[in-house]
Amino acid sequence: MDCMKLNEIKLTNPYLQLDDDCYEKVAPTPLDKPYLIHVNKDVAKTLNIDEEELQTDTFVKFLNGAYSPEGTDSFAMCYAGHQFGHFVPRLGDGRAINIGSIDKWQLQLKGAGVTEYSRNGDGRAVLRSSIREYLMSEAMHGLKIPTTLCLGIIGSDEDVRRERMEKGAIVCRVSSTWVRFGTFEYYASQGMFKELEALADYVIGENFPHLQGKNDVYTMLFNEVMVITSRLMAQWMSVGFTHGVMNTDNMSIAGLTIDYGPFAFLDDFKHENVCNHTDVEGRYSFANQPQVAKWNLQRLMQALSPLASMDKMEKILLIYDKIYIRYVHYYMCKKLGLEGTVEEDPALIDDMFDMLEMLHVDYTLFMRTLSHYEHKGDRTALLDIGTHHESMQKSMHNWLDRYDERIQYIDKTERKKQMLANNPKYVLKNYMLKEAIDAAESGDFSLVDDLFKIAQNPFEEYPEFERWAKETPDAYKNKKLSCSS
Ligand code: AMP
Ligand code: MG
Repeated sequence: MDCMKLNEIKLTNPYLQLDDDCYEKVAPTPLDKPYLIHVNKDVAKTLNIDEEELQTDTFVKFLNGAYSPEGTDSFAMCYAGHQFGHFVPRLGDGRAINIGSIDKWQLQLKGAGVTEYSRNGDGRAVLRSSIREYLMSEAMHGLKIPTTLCLGIIGSDEDVRRERMEKGAIVCRVSSTWVRFGTFEYYASQGMFKELEALADYVIGENFPHLQGKNDVYTMLFNEVMVITSRLMAQWMSVGFTHGVMNTDNMSIAGLTIDYGPFAFLDDFKHENVCNHTDVEGRYSFANQPQVAKWNLQRLMQALSPLASMDKMEKILLIYDKIYIRYVHYYMCKKLGLEGTVEEDPALIDDMFDMLEMLHVDYTLFMRTLSHYEHKGDRTALLDIGTHHESMQKSMHNWLDRYDERIQYIDKTERKKQMLANNPKYVLKNYMLKEAIDAAESGDFSLVDDLFKIAQNPFEEYPEFERWAKETPDAYKNKKLSCSS
């Protein structure tokens, strides 16, 4: 198919077939003096938009909600959600406006003004948080972790008040669904069971078409969501990602990483790492994530109970832990270059995490360095990361002795190849994003461009970006971020 010019785009709006209580039709409020910061050419290609269009004024207008292709019928979605454990019956897109779909891809402008669900908010997103979402969703995609994507990001001259005055921006987010666990909770809590069923059918049609026509289809839907959610958790844990706000309204029904806020990649390995400043109790700490996801699945199960047997869904949830552990094991074995399975593997993996935490070792750097480690080879590069205290380093030696034993019969070329393909050279740590944002706020977007490149191909080596592959500077390690965005 030929690529489309912007004036050839025809948007569709399948979500609007659902009950009109679950959305508000609302038009975007464009930003003042918008300008393009970055466009994701791969996403444009997926959407079949002609590359030549991406540098035009019309494209900026499109991202700003000021140019409406045929079929535009914009709306904000309503949902509910458990926020920090407490049920909030009515939430919704307070600043994200859906403009329509191209094929299965639903486009949404985040920061495009107030909606019925804005409560006291201004419907805007600031440059800082928009750059974080834009780069980080691409980084997750580069790491092969399911996520929503972004087509582009624009900045503007519009003032937005947060703790200080900032500038407004918009990211055009793209996803195969924007339905959240909380969308189901909304209908269930309102007693709107007919609409709940229609939502479930819609989600199955859009994201789980292989389930259509199956017996007990809603139980099967729950089963699938359980499996893909446990897999997502295993992927987050294996790369050291903390989401920061795992409320049920931030849990995608399609197992995608969604709603990037105060997230963080681990600097030094730390099980109890908490990246969200407002999370005083550490509910959403790094190590808690798999169990929080299970708790969130329980909320989804309750919301689905008018459609599917509670008994069956409870049985499904009983195997969550087992499936999660199996996935973690799968991803970690790839990262460690292990073949087959040996009874001691889970202990080898867990003890590595404990050792890394005790020695304050940068997780990403350690795994990448280990990828170059030869059986019974030189350990200097590994010992150089983290604490240099001799008695502590003994525990790294002990662990490496066990690792040596485990890998002795594994082909060394194959192992290295596998490890380099599964241990990123780069992850977008918060200190890197901060540096790019500081420059962007004074009008220099070159670091956004650079970080986008390494986000896209985090397993590649870029000599010019070597500094981004080093340990996080001490002053920036494991810092908390505010939710304000
Ligand atoms: P989040 O923590 O970003 O997932 O946001 C929680 C809820 O608050 C969502 O329903 C958002 O749409 C809404 N929200 C966040 N910031 C704003 C804002 N500046 N204006 C209006 N609504 C907002
Ligand atoms: Mg959210």
